[in-house]
Amino acid sequence: MTEEFFIQPKTYDISRPFRATLVSSDRITSESAEAEVRQLILDIPAPSFVYVEGQSIGVLAPPPYDFGNDHHMRLYSIASTRKGEGGHRTEIAICVRRCFYIDEVSGEKYPGKCSNYLCDAGVGEEIQVTGPYGRHFIMPRDSSANMLMVGTGTGIAPFRAFIKHIYEEEEEWKGKVRLFYGAKSGLDMLYMNDVKDDISHYYDAGTFKAFEALSSRPAFDDPSALGNKLEENAAEVWELIQDPKTHVYVAGIREQSKALDTALSHIAGSEEHWLRMKREIYLDGRWAEHLYD
Ligand SMILES: Cc1cc2nc3c(=O)[nH]c(=O)nc-3n(C[C@H](O)[C@H](O)[C@H](O)COP(=O)(O)OP(=O)(O)OC[C@H]3O[C@@H](n4cnc5c(N)ncnc54)[C@H](O)[C@@H]3O)c2cc1C
Repeated sequence: MTEEFFIQPKTYDISRPFRATLVSSDRITSESAEAEVRQLILDIPAPSFVYVEGQSIGVLAPPPYDFGNDHHMRLYSIASTRKGEGGHRTEIAICVRRCFYIDEVSGEKYPGKCSNYLCDAGVGEEIQVTGPYGRHFIMPRDSSANMLMVGTGTGIAPFRAFIKHIYEEEEEWKGKVRLFYGAKSGLDMLYMNDVKDDISHYYDAGTFKAFEALSSRPAFDDPSALGNKLEENAAEVWELIQDPKTHVYVAGIREQSKALDTALSHIAGSEEHWLRMKREIYLDGRWAEHLYD
């Protein structure tokens, strides 16, 4: 389904990187959470670096590069609004999960290059960034549009930017804003945990509702918890999905996309019905995905 019609850019222009300076780096999952996720604030003073909520930056990790590559660039969603982080126009927040991978041949565990470079970077260090990218993953212009956001892990980053923009910077958002967010445990609920709880500030807003989906197997990545949460709220989800004013955003680990399709196939009555509907939403420019492994 995904490959069939979702158009993803194959290349990103990295020819004119910006110099960013690391302003701060703070762990935003508690020490007892399994995943280390850090919020990094970067200062990018170049006037030509202009972005809107939902876009991503590229980070160029320094050499050496593997496999004969001449660079190592990875994408990170901007978690700040267009006004900058904490009111500082040239500063943006990104949240970075420290990644590891298992080499299929040796079976050894290796640190992911860019995420470990960023998580280990010290305050004041210079970091090369490119972009911004992702014009397809931005907010609707119409303030009466509904937004259905479905995410796991660091997929919360662009949603934090959307929600902050809607409730702190827009005159009045009339559409419904719904966030379905899955994590292994309460400790891993980014921006909704004891270390940092930005998003709970908006729980009182009349148009906003957040649905937290905790894994029933906290030690595992279990996107089905997210699917179950969607199914528990089937009537509301289906009403939103059918509304031509609804824009759907999906961000986080790729596996969640399957859980989302399964849940929505159940809600729609059949997989065929759901996939037909999803295609229509996509072709109408109201479906955007940021999925990664
Ligand atoms: C649109 C978009 C937005 C994103 N936003 C965020 C975000 O906000 N926060 C965030 O933390 N991440 C985000 N990501 C993911 C991020 O871009 C990186 O993929 C992630 O940080 C891992 O990169 P890395 O350089 O650390 O790891 P890499 O060194 O690239 O390794 C990671 C993966 O590459 C494969 N791999 C690489 N080398 C080998 C090898 N030798 N043998 C076997 N497998 C190998 C493995 O599958 C492994 O899991 C986003 C991705 C996309 C596409």
